[in-house]
Amino acid sequence: MDDAAGAYVISGPTAVGKGTVVAALKKRYPQVYVSVSVTTRPPRSGEIDGVHYFFVDDPTFDHLIAADGLLEWAVVHGVHRYGTPRQAVQEKLAAGIPTILEIDLQGARQVRTSLPDARQIFIAPPDWAELVRRLHFRGTETEEEMSRRLATARQELAAEGEFDCIIANVTVEKTVDELVKFIGL
Ligand code: 5GP
Repeated sequence: MDDAAGAYVISGPTAVGKGTVVAALKKRYPQVYVSVSVTTRPPRSGEIDGVHYFFVDDPTFDHLIAADGLLEWAVVHGVHRYGTPRQAVQEKLAAGIPTILEIDLQGARQVRTSLPDARQIFIAPPDWAELVRRLHFRGTETEEEMSRRLATARQELAAEGEFDCIIANVTVEKTVDELVKFIGL
């Protein structure tokens, strides 16, 4: 059993760098399990089914909900559904493996009921202008999609006080250092 065993929710607005931070953490500490979510969003170029997400159609997602196969799920940015597979997470937790859920605010709120012992971390941008810059720099969304994501981001930033820990993502290395300290890896 790892001292850091337990579930850790990592949330924060679009393009803040959550994915990069989680990937860097996983590289430093391969023993950490990062939950692979299920989504109805189509894959972006380079994304691999079963690695970045399990990409499913709407009926499959409906079935997962009906079978109570998700710890939480939400419609994110008003379009596609995303959810955390229950079984994989419960197996890792039972085996004493530190488990990361990188999910949105709605999911984080549900996890406070479905996994009440999970510690919750909010990754914040250094400031609003930097968040907008990072979203444009990533260049994976249309203008319409970017404005939808920024509208969600405003709401998410307003909720950072709900979290156990807030980390401003200035550099990936520093953010990972702070995460490691908080998780106790
Ligand atoms: P993207 O489409 O850029 O991969 O992800 C969009 C958003 O969905 C991100 O904010 C991410 O945290 C969130 N997300 C990814 N997986 C899940 C999940 O399983 N549940 C919830 N609630 N949100 C998720």
